[in-house]
Amino acid sequence: MGQVYRRMQRYSLLNVLKAAPRANTGWGPAWRTPGLQRSYDVVVIGGGGHGLATAYFLAKKHGVRQVALLERGHIGQGNSGRNTQVTRSNYFYPVSSSFFDHSLKLYEGLGRELNFNVMLRQGGQINLAHTLHDLEVMRRWANAIRMNGVDAEMLSEADIRKLVPILNMKSRYPILGGLIQRRAGISRHDAVVWGFARGASAHGVDLIQGCEVTGFRKSGDRVTAVETSQGAINCDRVCMSVSNQSSVLAGLAGFTLPITTMTLQAMVTEPIKPILDPCVISGSIHAYVSQSDRGEIVIGGAADVYNSYRQRGSLAVTRGVLAAVLELFPSLSRLKIMRQWAGAVDITPDTSPIMGLTPLRNLYINCGWGTGGYKAIPAGGDTMAQTIVQDKPHPLIGAFDLARFERGALVDEGAASGVAH
Ligand SMILES: Cc1cc2nc3c(=O)[nH]c(=O)nc-3n(C[C@H](O)[C@H](O)[C@H](O)COP(=O)(O)OP(=O)(O)OC[C@H]3O[C@@H](n4cnc5c(N)ncnc54)[C@H](O)[C@@H]3O)c2cc1C
Repeated sequence: MGQVYRRMQRYSLLNVLKAAPRANTGWGPAWRTPGLQRSYDVVVIGGGGHGLATAYFLAKKHGVRQVALLERGHIGQGNSGRNTQVTRSNYFYPVSSSFFDHSLKLYEGLGRELNFNVMLRQGGQINLAHTLHDLEVMRRWANAIRMNGVDAEMLSEADIRKLVPILNMKSRYPILGGLIQRRAGISRHDAVVWGFARGASAHGVDLIQGCEVTGFRKSGDRVTAVETSQGAINCDRVCMSVSNQSSVLAGLAGFTLPITTMTLQAMVTEPIKPILDPCVISGSIHAYVSQSDRGEIVIGGAADVYNSYRQRGSLAVTRGVLAAVLELFPSLSRLKIMRQWAGAVDITPDTSPIMGLTPLRNLYINCGWGTGGYKAIPAGGDTMAQTIVQDKPHPLIGAFDLARFERGALVDEGAASGVAH
């Protein structure tokens, strides 16, 4: 079944040419809509990028046959379909660096891996320094990144002027220099979600949308079944990838997580001709800007300052972010904002994720991505799949276990967040 499906759906120049005379009406659905079985080897909860990538690698790399992915709404309706698409690996600590660079490398080959154009554009990411203190901190950061074997370069004021001519270098927040990771960039978030969904389905994963997990049946310290809006499903192993719902589901499973949920918003302008290749970010005035392949200027900034599960974003933050963007790019002031939206993000005390084992022996967790988990989707899926199959943390995620909060071994990457969250 998987084989046949894979052959039918291959996206290639030949198949595009064959479909053209039929006005592209001959393409089948990108993934199957199977019925729900009552028992699976692995149940993955959450149809965001991390859940889908985990299901994909379980089936593709480890040959796990019976995998179900349960999504309460439709796939990609969570933060994986709401983010600003920035992909980078310029983290400070070696454990973060090696994990995120693994992810960036997977992104670099993802279009081919999934046979789906994820529209990765590595135009670089520039972090702006507005003070001598910013410059000092960035030099230290650049050295750390390079010592981790990842690319990073300091830029002079003149370098930045050349790379981003529309930046206002002499605003209230003068730009003295910056830090660039040239391999950073953006990719299309919907494509990443759809590509993993299509790939998972082709390898036999049952993608079940409209199926909410409402509880767990346990025997001792093991989960025996998940209860859902479509009935109970028996399973050998369960993986939770439900971002802002992680504390809720962990509560149903009988343990707590050190996660707070906040609203993070973004917006896009009307599309214009290409004016901006890199993503530009100012941690000091809390805003970042990139240009999508459709020409829209994509704007992100700080999270709302209070806890909430709402997906709207406060007007005060919208105004603050836009004011910051106009300080940096006054020439954008005439553009209309086309859309503004938000997601509820799951933030840990050290802003690093929680991945791996839980107090329940066959329940695995992947959450706490907060404002930065899009870039981690391929590596999140790859390492979680191995963790589930081998029942021990993948070497790249050992430091991100839940028990680090008991040991006090935090991985404080707050400073590597694009803006203060
Ligand atoms: C505005 C904004 C901008 C961002 N920008 C960036 C960025 O530029 N770069 C970056 O790296 N990251 C960014 N992020 C963060 C990133 O989007 C997330 O960290 C990442 O998408 C998390 O993926 P996920 O698969 O863990 O969660 P999600 O994509 O949120 O998926 C979780 C899924 O679980 C489902 N679910 C929840 N409860 C249940 C249940 N009980 N049963 C079944 N299903 C359930 C949800 O419906 C959802 O589809 C941004 C986030 C936001 C909101």
